[in-house]
Amino acid sequence: MTEKNKKIWIVCASNAPGFEQSAYELIEAGREISDGSMENLSCVIIGRKASKYADIFFKRGIKKVYIAEGEIYKNLIEEIYADALAQLILEKNPGKILLSASKELRTIAARLAAKLNMGLISDAIKIKTEASGKTSAIKPTFGGELMAKIESRSQVEMITIREGFYSKAPLVNPAQSGELINFKSDLPQLNPKIKIIESSPKPKEGDEDISNAEIVVAAGRGIKTKEEFEMVRQLSDLLGASVGITRPLADLGFAGENCQIGITGKTIKPKLYIALGISGKAHHTQGILNAKTIISVNKDPDAPIKEISDYFIEADIKEFLPAIIKKLKELKEIE
Ligand SMILES: Cc1cc2nc3c(=O)[nH]c(=O)nc-3n(C[C@H](O)[C@H](O)[C@H](O)COP(=O)(O)OP(=O)(O)OC[C@H]3O[C@@H](n4cnc5c(N)ncnc54)[C@H](O)[C@@H]3O)c2cc1C
Repeated sequence: MTEKNKKIWIVCASNAPGFEQSAYELIEAGREISDGSMENLSCVIIGRKASKYADIFFKRGIKKVYIAEGEIYKNLIEEIYADALAQLILEKNPGKILLSASKELRTIAARLAAKLNMGLISDAIKIKTEASGKTSAIKPTFGGELMAKIESRSQVEMITIREGFYSKAPLVNPAQSGELINFKSDLPQLNPKIKIIESSPKPKEGDEDISNAEIVVAAGRGIKTKEEFEMVRQLSDLLGASVGITRPLADLGFAGENCQIGITGKTIKPKLYIALGISGKAHHTQGILNAKTIISVNKDPDAPIKEISDYFIEADIKEFLPAIIKKLKELKEIE
């Protein structure tokens, strides 16, 4: 591995939703490709008050953190972020750059790739250092039907990593600090084509983030009415679970987008996943690859979800849901 190759960067945006969760996972991914050594692993935090978050990284063993902060980064305008990061990359010359595959960071990565004429592997779920020193990545393709192994031919290797596929880097030393390097981008040259005129908080969708839920009860198109969906909620309350949905139900507005599981939704890793009236198309099952136990209920004995289920119940939702809710309520009363 060349010296340049060895310099691994984790790039995070402190204003991006889910910043801390993805940062912990990226540190773990970075540690894996640096042979467990933290020596060559640095982090870049960009955002309005980015330096506030440096400790998160130091406590997890990172020794060097680059900071790009200030009012210019108040709104996450990808164009501005990419311009500043491009300047920093050109100046410091890292060999590998890891970013989250979230909506915001994947856009920034694409802009960086175009700007600096670098290759980009997007949406990886696993990365590895090959004997050549190059990084290879596994990524789902054809809607998750196939897994492709990709190696970058670019000198600087940039990879976005899908959330939920790496564990969180543990605290190494709560008292540890490190080298903080402030980066001042050449701001006058940042002349964005987008200007934010006004912003207001997104209305709350009413459902919590299911990424870290231990039990998820998920509804698919087998659930046809609001009344049936209400029963899904009841079942989930009785089990202390979170509610998930497939994309068709998100499109129909049964629950907020933050409950959608799958390739364009959340990746979850619950101990128990209960699929109600879900066929098991790859776009959806890509989001539940890390579920420990899968129970599915479907009236079609040949539904593809059966293949990946630990327990498959052939039943009509209309009969199954009232029966299981009644039984669980009886059991709760006995308790
Ligand atoms: C680019 C792209 C990205 C996508 N991203 C996602 C994504 O992130 N997440 C996602 O979920 N989908 C996604 N989709 C859609 C995906 O391809 C499937 O269409 C979707 O997952 C199917 O959802 P479903 O299982 O709820 O519906 P269906 O495939 O229609 O399955 C419904 C199931 O319910 C069963 N059923 C019907 N009635 C009953 C009943 N009364 N009792 C019991 N069982 C019953 C049926 O037998 C069937 O198996 C994406 C598609 C594209 C093209």
